[in-house]
Amino acid sequence: MLVFVLNAGSSSLKYQLINAQSGELKASGLVERIGIDGVLKHEIGENKKLTFELPIPTHKEAIELVLRILTNDETKVISSIKEIDAIGHRVVHGGEYFDKSVIVTDDVIKKIEDLIPLAPLHNPANILGMKICQEIMPTIPNVAVFDTAFHQTMPEENYLYAIPHEDYTQHHLRKYGFHGTSHYYVSNEAIKLLKKEKSRIIVCHLGNGSSVCAVKDGKSISTSMGLTPLEGLVMGTRCGDIDAGVIPYLMERKHMTPHQIIDYLNKKSGILGVSGISSDLREVIRASLENDQRAQVTIKMLCNRIKKYICSYAGLLEGVDAICFTAGIGENADLIRKQVCSGLEFMGILIDQEKNLLKSDKSREINAKNSKVKIYVIPTNEELVIAKDTYELTKG
Ligand code: ADP
Repeated sequence: MLVFVLNAGSSSLKYQLINAQSGELKASGLVERIGIDGVLKHEIGENKKLTFELPIPTHKEAIELVLRILTNDETKVISSIKEIDAIGHRVVHGGEYFDKSVIVTDDVIKKIEDLIPLAPLHNPANILGMKICQEIMPTIPNVAVFDTAFHQTMPEENYLYAIPHEDYTQHHLRKYGFHGTSHYYVSNEAIKLLKKEKSRIIVCHLGNGSSVCAVKDGKSISTSMGLTPLEGLVMGTRCGDIDAGVIPYLMERKHMTPHQIIDYLNKKSGILGVSGISSDLREVIRASLENDQRAQVTIKMLCNRIKKYICSYAGLLEGVDAICFTAGIGENADLIRKQVCSGLEFMGILIDQEKNLLKSDKSREINAKNSKVKIYVIPTNEELVIAKDTYELTKG
């Protein structure tokens, strides 16, 4: 079954065409700067790359263009749109409505709309993607796969904030968590590697956005992101955990509005804010190796925050069988993996530095032979989870 996986953002759109049964990736791509100057980067199979720079004023035109490229004589991977069996949409916020993927109906769209206050940047774009697909491919079923769904198994004591309870019951203020499809995929791969019936796994998804998740017997019991993706780790441009007292202090001192504060904490903080160099960790690592003090502090902060979560989650899980590293930083930055694990030997976490330094795009074990805890690097594949869920719900 061929599934078109779509991740629609406010001015961008990522897509993949996947055979959901075999996992074969037929084509993938990214449209950026929709409504600005438009750039489409399209890849066919593993290696053929095409770049188009042309005005792409709307999301609808972006999707139409992608479909034309997929079926066009010179670039085609399918002969007609009719070969697409189903469309899987990544949806950021499913709130408490969705604990698993669902077929898109009017009621589902209405519920995702209700959740816009919780994800004002993401959910409107996700809905737009669904409505456009319904309009231009009316006979093909759509499935919504939620970033929050995997974390709906968290117990109340781990998702509530310590604020008056009516703000949870009336305003839905609680921890939801994100990166759910990635945490699910990676923990599931780790369970296969562990071959244990009962498992306690900590997944560190470290990308531009980062989060840690405690997974007990395949279920999320706690995660570092919260009501929004701002909570938790030090990220590319997000501050992560911070004293809430900082917010009124900044508002008074710097005369900032709520919108400006959120922008400051989401887009100007984290690795970028502390280092003053870049949100891209590669550049900060480079500077730290050249003895840039702020770059060095940034890396220590980043690793210490991850360590803090690993230790607290080991406590919640009452032990740990495996720690998994995934996403851009987790999969590629051996320095960060080493620094995070160093000092945790008392917990039975022993990294093998030779294995840690090996480059590979496959899942691998990087712990020492005598490590009580397995340490895995597992490349994430959120699109495959979306394709497989879409297949399961639409195979008829
Ligand atoms: P996103 O959250 O946007 O999906 P990714 O998971 O692709 O992001 O992660 C992107 C980040 O990974 C980049 O910002 C970069 O800092 C980091 N990264 C990628 N490769 C390396 C590397 N070799 N060393 C350090 N950081 C890396």
